[in-house]
Amino acid sequence: FVSIRNLRKFYGDFEVLKGIDLEIEKGEVVCVIGPSGSGKSTLIRCINRLEDFSEDSAILVDGIHVTPGRSLARVRAEVGMVFQSFNLFPHLTVRENVMLAPRRVRRTPRAAARAQADRLLARVGIAEQADKYPELLSGGQQQRVAIARALAMEPQVLLFDEPTSALDPEMVGEVLDVMRALAGTGVTMVIVTHEMGFASQVADRVIFMDGGRVLEVGPPDQVLGAPQEPRTRNFLSAVL
Ligand code: ATP
Ligand code: MG
Repeated sequence: FVSIRNLRKFYGDFEVLKGIDLEIEKGEVVCVIGPSGSGKSTLIRCINRLEDFSEDSAILVDGIHVTPGRSLARVRAEVGMVFQSFNLFPHLTVRENVMLAPRRVRRTPRAAARAQADRLLARVGIAEQADKYPELLSGGQQQRVAIARALAMEPQVLLFDEPTSALDPEMVGEVLDVMRALAGTGVTMVIVTHEMGFASQVADRVIFMDGGRVLEVGPPDQVLGAPQEPRTRNFLSAVL
């Protein structure tokens, strides 16, 4: 469903991604772990073409080429992204943040977009915050708005880049709970995370990256519980 073939990316002479091959099935939840600088963010940013990549590489999402030079619009409609730093629009209310993309991109009528936004805000547990501006919300609430906003485009794939890393510890659980609930709904999810407990519960597969390569991939009890690669073992013993 998401097909990544020989993904290579350079920053100048520096090869950040050194030929990544990965097939992700529809509805699969994949967690990406690995040391700082290993290329995790760059990998998922390539999937929705926030980053360009080498011309001999190919990424297909639901049969659509995410290849440099092709139209971005369809890719962006199919692939949603949730960032570490929420990235909500500060001058829009919570509800308006969720309505924005369907209104602008899909031309959804106002009343329908509003009803959908309220449904999504209820789903992430913050219906009562709809009329507030983002700055009045806690970090955990803001991140749940960001998830609702990503869902508003009804993406086939949702990418998360360390969605809980910027949160106070007491807010992490509420965001992971929303993601856990989403994981059961058939959305394909690719999640960069340092939350190993979450990964072992929710992931169908865990990917360990190091130095721009995928070193190990498999079910969580294998990659997290019985890693084969010494570098995976070192990483896990440092973070657990
Ligand atoms: P972290 O866990 O710290 O978020 P990461 O695994 O997400 O790390 P990336 O952000 O993908 O790592 O970065 C991979 C490598 O690419 C790093 O060595 C980084 O310094 C380099 N890099 C990232 N963005 C750029 C850029 N715009 N220009 C040059 N080098 C970059
Ligand atoms: Mg990163």
